[in-house]
Amino acid sequence: MMNRASALLLITTMAVAAAGTPRAEPAQEKKKEEICPWCKNDPKILEACGCVSHGPFHIGKKDTIDLAKRLPAPRWIFLESKHLRYATSLGPLNIPLGERARVEAELERLRKVFPNIPKKIQQLDPWLRIHLTVMKSEDLYEKFERLLNVTDADFPESRGTGAFMGDGKYLGEKEKFEVVLHTDRTTHFLFTEENMGARTTDALRWHFKEPHHLTASIAAVDDLVNDKFLFPHIAHNLAHLFFCAYKHYSYDPPYWLDEGIAHLMEIESFKDLNITYCSDEGAGPDRERSKDWMAVVKTLIEKRRATPFAELIHKKNFADLSREDHVTAWAKVKFLSEAHAAKFAQFLGSLKGRLDDKGYPTGKDMPGYQRELIKELWNWTADSFDQEWEAWIKKQK
Ligand SMILES: [Zn+2]
Ligand SMILES: [Zn+2]
Repeated sequence: MMNRASALLLITTMAVAAAGTPRAEPAQEKKKEEICPWCKNDPKILEACGCVSHGPFHIGKKDTIDLAKRLPAPRWIFLESKHLRYATSLGPLNIPLGERARVEAELERLRKVFPNIPKKIQQLDPWLRIHLTVMKSEDLYEKFERLLNVTDADFPESRGTGAFMGDGKYLGEKEKFEVVLHTDRTTHFLFTEENMGARTTDALRWHFKEPHHLTASIAAVDDLVNDKFLFPHIAHNLAHLFFCAYKHYSYDPPYWLDEGIAHLMEIESFKDLNITYCSDEGAGPDRERSKDWMAVVKTLIEKRRATPFAELIHKKNFADLSREDHVTAWAKVKFLSEAHAAKFAQFLGSLKGRLDDKGYPTGKDMPGYQRELIKELWNWTADSFDQEWEAWIKKQK
């Protein structure tokens, strides 16, 4: 993600980044603005469902050309909510039989604002798809704020003289979080190349400056054509964006923790998902049908193969995380967030908002700082943390 390793990204994705892919056609004739059949682009109705506008609006790097003109797709739809801005080129989706009950329950919430949504609808048009996605993404934002034990009111517009909370009202960043959903990889390549200077096959997250904000670009292809798998993947990526943004993205948070939280968000919220494994900067191609991770981690503990805290804190990047590390990181985050919610929030707040003597954010010696913090907050050593965790896991179903 972010600023740090486009070189790494390029190395890992060369194989699929075919040279000479044609660039987009120049701007087409501007189409007549399309109206959402459900909210009719009416600000009052949009407000009632937690949204602001159907745009179109700018996404990504400052001063880049209008996304809808730049990226060839039959249609781009925009939707901005309280904390997020989405652009999507996804088309309609037939709701698979096994998914109807879940989608109906989600639609029931939207029906409070859009009473015209037919009962037992069999196909979601692109507008309903994005309204549902934004609704669930805002749910996730709320859930994330609960994890951090913060509210919007904790984040001033700019860094002031009070407790350090970053530099902006979106968890510490200046602008809303952005997600671009592509119906194929062609526009994903074009968008990431132009905005992030990198071409990746899979999801790419980035921190932009001027103004500071975080953006994810996701190609909804392969297993992700199905919303059932797409949304957990979005949730995984949003969790990374939110955690990196918290108190401003000034340095990398510990990788085990960043990935553990992203797994927590994707797994806790959704059943039957495909797990996303981050391998480097992006969110990986390497997804698998979920297993019962609680059963997996219990086996790891039995076989003495769960990764100790003392090792996890030294993982240097996402690629450094083994499958055992992913499961253990998730299970440690789950333990801390469920059995020690208030202190865990303090742990996260301290890690993400660390300042040096002069008041500048510093990510110096993060492994040592994590050890210091578990001592200070829980009076744990790395070993006693692992023991407490194992005892808790053994009691879980
Ligand atoms: Zn609408
Ligand atoms: Zn991840």
